Amino acid sequence: MVPTPQYAGERVVVMGLGKSGLSAATSLRASGADVRVWDDKETAVADMVAKGFRKLDNETLDGVRALVWSPGVPHTYPRQHPLATKARARNIPITCDVDLLAEAQSEATFVGITGTNGKSTTTSLTAHILQQAGRKTAVGGNLGTPALDLDPLGSDGTYVLELSSYQLELVPHLACQVAVLLNITPDHLERHGGMEGYIAAKRRIFSYQRDPRIAVIGIDDLPSAALYDALRHDGLHRVWPISAQKVAPGGVYVQDGILIDATSGKSVQVLDLRDVARLPGTHNWQNAAAATAVARALNIPHDVIAAAIKTFPGLKHRQELVGVLDNVSFVNDSKATNADATEKALVCYENIYWILGGQAKEGGIESLKPLFPRIRHAHLIGEASDTFAAVLNGVVPHTQHGDMQSAIEDAGRKAIADKLPGATVLLSPACASWDMFKSFEDRGDQFRAHVRKLWPQAEELRS
Ligand code: ADP
Repeated sequence: MVPTPQYAGERVVVMGLGKSGLSAATSLRASGADVRVWDDKETAVADMVAKGFRKLDNETLDGVRALVWSPGVPHTYPRQHPLATKARARNIPITCDVDLLAEAQSEATFVGITGTNGKSTTTSLTAHILQQAGRKTAVGGNLGTPALDLDPLGSDGTYVLELSSYQLELVPHLACQVAVLLNITPDHLERHGGMEGYIAAKRRIFSYQRDPRIAVIGIDDLPSAALYDALRHDGLHRVWPISAQKVAPGGVYVQDGILIDATSGKSVQVLDLRDVARLPGTHNWQNAAAATAVARALNIPHDVIAAAIKTFPGLKHRQELVGVLDNVSFVNDSKATNADATEKALVCYENIYWILGGQAKEGGIESLKPLFPRIRHAHLIGEASDTFAAVLNGVVPHTQHGDMQSAIEDAGRKAIADKLPGATVLLSPACASWDMFKSFEDRGDQFRAHVRKLWPQAEELRS
């Protein structure tokens, strides 16, 4: 746990009592703050009271020094939250647990990573490279461990933080030495009052940077490229472009699969990403380019970076290879909860036995039609089954299944019998999971468990 002595003896309200709220309240109390807790759910408050915390009962916020807000709870859009409105009227700062960490460990190095997609992969890969280089590293934020549950690292440590747009609205003390924006596509617009608000939230990652003040920015989409131009124009940062699609002078980019570092002005070939099975697809090449840029900003040598990328174990549920049998690969891409994410996986494989369905998102799977020639058979599950079957009719052979196990069994048997080169049984649902599963993680875990139960002889590639 990271102590937060900056609030010792001060009254602090923790609002939103999920994982990060509990973590913040615990650190603050242990550090001698007068903690008051609040949540719009009464049961959440009762749970905290049972743990000995005091409920916020003075709604006027008298004497409150800071409001530590859980980033998942809306405060401004789509409507103002009364507690946030009161705090603003009294000029009480509204922050979050990541900000408390930044304040408490200000002597450490901070790397912040944001973007619409690829945050978790890039954050994990960056931390992996740093760890392989022998650096004292902690990884968290929006990913895995809440910020204040990490270890205190001190001046020779580096925090690698995944930062959501929600968190970035609540971090006035976070000054990253290296900040990364991977990409921007429309997302969470209702929480930011529109695209402009969303871009403004992402841009905040660069607002309070400190030396060497390196801003790493993807230039493969228009809003990010515009931000890159704006930051270069301001002249306050060292701005490094990254691209998986084109040469990015002065930055890190991928050309025909070769990862190239040109941040020193000279182009250095780091490694061939086509040989890295755990980072398939050009989207992952963008993530690798970003992680490489961070590592170079922290003076990690090229050979160490290359060796670390090769040993990256990958993340669960994102094109996770769970087994191989008779040249058929079983891939868990349960994190693909919409068609855009599924597209990223479909382009990576030929001869796909595709398991999809669940609760459909707007637009369904229409946008994936150009990739249908890669599908040998589609196996449909969940609420969207009939709608998706109508799209596939006459184009892709398909079967509707009542549950995941029968879909996997059928897909696996067909793939093994067909003996096509590079055959892949791919769970990439293009749908939310809530109709049949607790979460996308639950859906992916069940996929992995069924594959291992049905074909125990499938080589286990992940420990
Ligand atoms: P996030 O943490 O931002 O949600 P993840 O690393 O968990 O991102 O990846 C989630 C999904 O987003 C992946 O399964 C893939 O479909 C897609 N993705 C990953 N990296 C990128 C990228 N750089 N650009 C676009 N899409 C990506």
